[in-house]
Amino acid sequence: RADQEDKVFTKVKENKTDPNTQYNIERGSDKDHLYIVVIGHVDAGKSTLMGRLLCELGEVSQRTLHKYEQESKKIGKQSFMYAWVLDETGEERVRGITMDVGRAQFETKTKKVIILDAPGHADFIPNMITGAGQADVALLVVDATRGEFESGFDLGGQTREHALLVRSLGVNQLAVAVNKLDTSNWSQERFNEITKKLKAFLKQAGFKDSDVTFVPCSGLTGENLVKAPTEAELLSWYSGPCLLDVIDKFNVPQRPVSKPLRMSINDIFKGTGSGFCVAGRIENGVLNKGDKVLVCPSKEMAEVRSLSINDLTSNSAFAGDQVSVTLSGVEMQNVAVGFILSDPIQQVPVTTRFEARLVVFNVKVPITKGFPVLIHHQSLVESANIVKLKALLNKSTGEVMKKKPRCLGNNSVAVVEIEASKPICIERYKDVKELGRVMLRVAGVTIAAGLVTDIINI
Ligand code: GDP
Repeated sequence: RADQEDKVFTKVKENKTDPNTQYNIERGSDKDHLYIVVIGHVDAGKSTLMGRLLCELGEVSQRTLHKYEQESKKIGKQSFMYAWVLDETGEERVRGITMDVGRAQFETKTKKVIILDAPGHADFIPNMITGAGQADVALLVVDATRGEFESGFDLGGQTREHALLVRSLGVNQLAVAVNKLDTSNWSQERFNEITKKLKAFLKQAGFKDSDVTFVPCSGLTGENLVKAPTEAELLSWYSGPCLLDVIDKFNVPQRPVSKPLRMSINDIFKGTGSGFCVAGRIENGVLNKGDKVLVCPSKEMAEVRSLSINDLTSNSAFAGDQVSVTLSGVEMQNVAVGFILSDPIQQVPVTTRFEARLVVFNVKVPITKGFPVLIHHQSLVESANIVKLKALLNKSTGEVMKKKPRCLGNNSVAVVEIEASKPICIERYKDVKELGRVMLRVAGVTIAAGLVTDIINI
């Protein structure tokens, strides 16, 4: 097994092409994997759009579709049938909202796309962070209906907050579905009005113009999702790509397969045989069946008994993969969501205190020394305090404007020290991007996003 691991590492290191190609060869697939998170205000039509897209691409069987059609007729919400393709539990169905990060996938010409569906309700943002933390790119869905776009964007809606969240979690490519344009008779004027407002905002949020693409569409009618438009009015002014082609054109980030293993745990469950299972994403490195791994922050050794990717058993998994792993050698009650499986030699740093560069975007009272927050770090939620305000920075240049500021208000950028109530696994952003980002929340509201710049006390 050690040989096998060596072989993989040597191959990756000597690889003259690029790690993504290597990753695909090892995966036995010629398509790059791309993780996409779907964001936007509640009722923007996210579930309907993704459900319809999956149906158009033949990812949903006629039988399932027929069943959903019958069921939705029965409760008198027929328009929800496509949304159900993504919504799994009965509770969500009755409430007509998507609560958890559901999963589905489809293929474009060059990519295998895995959807991390995001919920639209404000109180479900912690789930969305889990989705966004795993995403390579995002699809922002906005409702073009007159009045609806405005309430999702201006009047305390989630369009802005979601876009800010994904950007601060490191997502830099965005497709914007200007959805439900059927309700405005495919008006070019309405499309332009919306894109103009969004462009200005997204630029301010840190997205480059060239990394954002706007697509007029309708999830309900299926217009411009997977093929060129058929509506005469839309055809008269739009000649750009359909949504599927926009997704196909996204750049796939490099997979850090040659770095030491880091896997973040976002679910724990009892397996069928002995041992138990943990599920999550491999952020860095390679994980093989039979590997010894260090469960952190508790630092107990465990062995990988088996692993599977999308329910298929596999001998190894690579950075970027979502996996389920059966572990032995540790007790299930000693492992928690938010833990990391680490390379036992090159270990993940464990600490209570770290320095971060924060962008503050939503505080009612300014942040002062001692300010209590909840840290969201991948799937981990931990209480903490902002214990030191070290410097206030200039937003665009990053230069220090003021050392030891007394407080931090909205839209400020600052370097702070944060002390968690328990030891957590965390990395510097420059070492492992995925484990070097945090979100800070207070009373159900995301108040800041940060990048870890230093680890203190380890
Ligand atoms: P989500 O909360 O963003 O997932 O939104 P849903 O997919 O549940 O859709 C919310 C409502 O908008 C439902 O009543 C849908 O039938 C309706 N809807 C979704 N997409 C479209 C569309 O493209 N056009 C129109 N006219 N209605 C839509």
